[in-house]
Amino acid sequence: MIKKTLTTLLMLCGTAFGLMSYKAYPPPQIRTIVIDPGHGGFDPGTHGLISKEKDIALAISLKLGRALQQAFPGIKIVYTRTTDIMPGNKPTVPDGIRYRAELANRANGDLFICIHCNSNAHPAGSYPVKHLVRYRTTGRGRHKKTVPVYATSWVKNTTHGTTTYIWKADRNGSKSDAINLRDQLRNGENMGDSTGEAFDMDSPEAMMRAQLYEKKYFANSALFGTLVEKEFATTGRHSFGVEQRQIGIGVLEATGMPSVLIETGYLTNREEERYLASSKGQTEVAANILRAFRRYQDKLRANSPN
Ligand SMILES: [Zn+2]
Repeated sequence: MIKKTLTTLLMLCGTAFGLMSYKAYPPPQIRTIVIDPGHGGFDPGTHGLISKEKDIALAISLKLGRALQQAFPGIKIVYTRTTDIMPGNKPTVPDGIRYRAELANRANGDLFICIHCNSNAHPAGSYPVKHLVRYRTTGRGRHKKTVPVYATSWVKNTTHGTTTYIWKADRNGSKSDAINLRDQLRNGENMGDSTGEAFDMDSPEAMMRAQLYEKKYFANSALFGTLVEKEFATTGRHSFGVEQRQIGIGVLEATGMPSVLIETGYLTNREEERYLASSKGQTEVAANILRAFRRYQDKLRANSPN
C-alpha cells in the first residue's frame, strides 16, 4: 500500500516535471521515419473492382518514402516491407504486426506512418437492392391472396473519403509498455551485450518517463494526423478527420513513437478506387502526406525551446 502511494506520488511529481519540461520532450529532430504498407503477401486486405489494398498501400508507401527522402535527405526511411510479402515473411497477421512494431522500435523511429485503404460493408462499385414496388392479387375465390412485387435496382456505393487513426487514449497503458520496450531494446543495443544492467521497466522512474513520452507522442500523433487530413482536404478529397480507434490498430500501440494509420480512401467506391489505383492519385496522396510532414516538423521546431 505504502509502495503504491509512493508510486502515485512519484507519478504526480513526474507529471509536474513533465509539464515544466513538456516542450523538451522528445527532441524535435526527426531522424527516422518508419513507413508501414498495410497487409501484404497472403493478406490482401480489402479490395475494390480492380485492385487490392495490399498493392495500393505498397505503391503509395514507396512513393511517400521516395518523396520524403528527396525532400529530406538527412532523414532515414525504414519500410516494414518493400515487396508483396507479409513483413518479415511471418506466417500470421499477428506475427506480422509484432514484426512491424519491433522493426519500428529497433529502428528507433521518430514517426510511424501506416498506409491502408478503406472499405464499407457493401460490395465494391454498385450492388443490387431489392425493394417493394406494389402488391398484386393472385388466385380466385378463397385462394385469392395478395403478394408483394419486388424490383431490383442497382445502388452506387458512394462512401468515400480519408480518415487518419491514432490509438485510443484510454489504451495508453500499452503504449507506455511499448515506449519502455523500445528504450530497453535501444539500451541493450547501445551497451552491446545482454549482461549489462537491465532497464527495469516496472520501476516508477521508467513508468513516469514512459508516461511523459506517451502524452507527447499522443499529442504529436494527433497533430500529424490533423495536418495529413487537412492536406487531403485541400486537394478536394473528403476528409473524415482524425479518429481514435481501438480495434485493428494494435501496431500503433506497440510502437514507441508518434504513430498514425492513414486510411487513404475507399476501394469500394468506384471513383475513389480509380484514383487510388492510378499513379497520379498515388503520387498526390504521397505529396499530401509529405506536405503534412513538412508542416508537422515546422510546428515541432516552433514549439521547441532548443
Ligand atoms: Zn487495411
